[in-house]
Amino acid sequence: MKIALENLTKIFPSRNKKSGEEVVAVNNFNFTIPDGKLIGLLGPSGCGKSTTLYMISGLQKPSSGKIFFGEDDVTELSTENRGIGLVFQNYALYPHLTVKQNILFPLQNLRGKDKMTKEAMLERAYEAAKLVQIDELMDRKPSELSGGQQQRVAIARALVKMPRVLLLDEPLSNLDARLRLQTREEIRRIQKETGITTVFVTHDQEEAMSISDMIVVMKLGVVQQIGEPQKVYDDPANLFVAKFLGTPPINVFSGKVEGGKLFIGADCVLDVPGVMNQEVIVGIRPEGFILDENGPMQCKPTNVEVMGRDVSIVSTSDASLNPLVRSIINADNNNVNIASGIVRYTLKPHKVFLFNKETEERIVIGEVK
Ligand code: ADP
Ligand code: MG
Repeated sequence: MKIALENLTKIFPSRNKKSGEEVVAVNNFNFTIPDGKLIGLLGPSGCGKSTTLYMISGLQKPSSGKIFFGEDDVTELSTENRGIGLVFQNYALYPHLTVKQNILFPLQNLRGKDKMTKEAMLERAYEAAKLVQIDELMDRKPSELSGGQQQRVAIARALVKMPRVLLLDEPLSNLDARLRLQTREEIRRIQKETGITTVFVTHDQEEAMSISDMIVVMKLGVVQQIGEPQKVYDDPANLFVAKFLGTPPINVFSGKVEGGKLFIGADCVLDVPGVMNQEVIVGIRPEGFILDENGPMQCKPTNVEVMGRDVSIVSTSDASLNPLVRSIINADNNNVNIASGIVRYTLKPHKVFLFNKETEERIVIGEVK
């Protein structure tokens, strides 16, 4: 089922009566989520992810704009009638019910023509439980389960009604790091197996990048960029998106363009044809540095962090807008001499991004702007 959001906007009235400033939690969101895809809704806390999800679910009414499921306008439809499955961060299981009873619960509430026989309900509950691999735990109470198992129960409960759309709001945030990794892969597998169109909200860029068909990056209620994770990483629309994606994060420098050449400090580091003379913000991905004793870019190394396959060379630079510069270098090629006080790099052109100093929008190299 494709989901179309049209000019979707949510404005909350001011919490503080005196200042009277309303909050535009979601500002004119337009996007059609393709059928059967998993979309990662990504951005820092407070950027409007949950509000967007709640509007899709019907838990919150948009201030303006429309929502379509397939061709149906569901903007005015109640949550119960939208055919959605919802999973929240805090599992929200009924503590006094067993796993089986928790999963059965949504089916037992069906009325009229949707009413099911007891046998049919049980069959469905076991199917959902199998899908998330908790069918062995059906007679336990939530308190007898680990966090990861509880979240699986919550997912089974969301799936048992065979929803048209699955909506997940930070479903992994309460799990420890290893379970988070494992459960996110589970969610991806279940989504692929069922083919349910899914919106997955997270503030964790790595999580979103690793499981999404497409990501939507939001900031202060405004969509910044939508695309396949790798495309957005390789081709960020602005400085915010470039900084939000990637670990370690992108390195940011002040620089200037003169005569089609990019300068960082006094170093002429790269040819940037087609870019007019101007001061710019330069973003360089950590993997964009090549150790090269004759390279044009200099930094002052302070430390080499061993990461196993790679090393991270930590250095400083007067032109850096962050305290530290981090490059990721294959451990085999690491022959940096910290004591020399200098490390030199050549840059990989496709890992270097220029941004307008005022608007922070991307300046594409090779295009006249
Ligand atoms: P996220 O899920 O990305 O952290 P939210 O969608 O929860 O962000 O919130 C977006 C913005 O809307 C925030 O500034 C938040 O304070 C505000 N907000 C959310 N819910 C309400 C509400 N019920 N009343 C007033 N403001 C709200
Ligand atoms: Mg939220």
